[in-house]
Amino acid sequence: MDIQFLGGAAEVGRLGMLLRDQGTTLLCDYGLAPSDPPQYPMEAPPVDALLLSHSHLDHCGMVPVVSRQSETKTYMTPVTQEVANLLLKDSLKISAAEGYPEPFDREDVQTMNQSVVAVDYGDTFQVGNLEVDVHSAGHIPGSSMFRINDRETVLFTGDLQTIDTHLVRGTQPVPCDVLVLESTYAGRHHPDRAQTEAQFLARIDEVVERGGTALVPCFAVARTQEVLMVLAETDHEIWVDGMGRQVARMYQRHRRFIRSPKRYERALGRARIVHSQAARDRALRGDVILTTGGMLSGGPVLHYLAALKDDLQSEVLLTGYQVEGTNGRLLLDTRNIELQGVRVPVEAEVSSHDFSAHAGHAKLVEFVEGCDPTRVVLMHGDAREELAEALEGRDVVLPEDGERHTL
Ligand SMILES: [Zn+2]
Repeated sequence: MDIQFLGGAAEVGRLGMLLRDQGTTLLCDYGLAPSDPPQYPMEAPPVDALLLSHSHLDHCGMVPVVSRQSETKTYMTPVTQEVANLLLKDSLKISAAEGYPEPFDREDVQTMNQSVVAVDYGDTFQVGNLEVDVHSAGHIPGSSMFRINDRETVLFTGDLQTIDTHLVRGTQPVPCDVLVLESTYAGRHHPDRAQTEAQFLARIDEVVERGGTALVPCFAVARTQEVLMVLAETDHEIWVDGMGRQVARMYQRHRRFIRSPKRYERALGRARIVHSQAARDRALRGDVILTTGGMLSGGPVLHYLAALKDDLQSEVLLTGYQVEGTNGRLLLDTRNIELQGVRVPVEAEVSSHDFSAHAGHAKLVEFVEGCDPTRVVLMHGDAREELAEALEGRDVVLPEDGERHTL
C-alpha cells in the first residue's frame, strides 16, 4: 500500500491524497486554495473512486475535474454534496469575475452529481479490492472520516473536531493501523469554548446596550449557523445575510446531520433573513448582523462595514481565523480595511472570537492516543513538526507533496 499527496501535505489548502493498494487507486479529497489567484493541486491520475470528506473548498474545490473522468464514482454524504454544489458554483462565479481560467465548468459539476454515491456514518462500501467505512469527523455537518480496510487499516480524517459544538457532536477516535491526520492547529491551542461563548455574548450585550450594532462576519458553511445557535437564547434582534442563508436551509433539509434538529429549527426561527436592500437598511438598525464573508474579502459584509465603520457604538466581532493578506487580517493588525480599493480606518470596536471547527493541538494528541495507530501521517498543516514532537515515541511521517510513501 502506498500514499502520495497531490497537494496540501504541508499547508492548509488544496488537499488531495492518493492511496494505491491491491491494484485499486483512491483519491481522498481534491481541493483548491481559494487564494488570489487560486492555487491548485497536482494533476490527478485516473482513479477508481474519490472519497470526499466535506464541503470546504480546500477539500472539494477540484472534485469535478476528477469525477468527469469516465466512471469515477465519488463518495460523500448528501449534505456534503448539496453544500459543495453551492460552493463550486460560487467559485466559478468568482473565477469569471476575476478573470481566472477555470479548471472545470458548470457541466462538470453536473457530471459530478451524477457520479455521487451517497454515504452515511456507519456505512461500509467496496471499491475494487478495498473496503471503506465512514465515520463522523465532528468538523461540520456531514463531514466524514474514511477508514480503508485491507491487511492494514488506514484512517483519513479530513478536517476534524473532537469537542461538541452546537451544530455537531465531536468525533471519537477510530482504531486503525495508519492514521492520516489533519494538523491545521498543530502547535496552537483553543481557549475553552464555553468561555469563548460567554465572552462573545457579553460583548454583544454591551454593544446593544450602548445603542450600537454588532457586525459578526462569519464563514457561510457551518460558522454562520453555529454562531446563530450561540445567539439564539438571547433577546437580540438577529439578522442573517450572505451565503450562510442558503447553507442554513440546506442543513434544515439534512437534519439528521445536525446534533439537535429541534434546537436548530428554533435558532433559525429567531433569525430575520435579509432578502432585499430595504431589509439591509433595517438590519443596520437591528442588534446583530451575521454575514459573509468571514475574512471580509467580499460579500455583503463590506456593505455593512462601510455603513458602520465610523460608528463608535458599533463593533466588528470576528469569528474565525484571519489569513494573511485578507481584509480581516488587515483590520486586526492595523484597524484599517480596504473598501473598493481604498484603505480606510475603522473607528468601530473590533474583537476576535475563536469558534474554530478544528481540534486544537492537545485534542489532536488525545485523538492519536485514542486511535493508537502504529504509524501517524501528518498532513494539512504548516507547523506539523510541533505535533510530531508531541507524538514522540510513535512512528510519524511528514510527507511532502509528490512523494510516494510505502506504508
Ligand atoms: Zn474544513
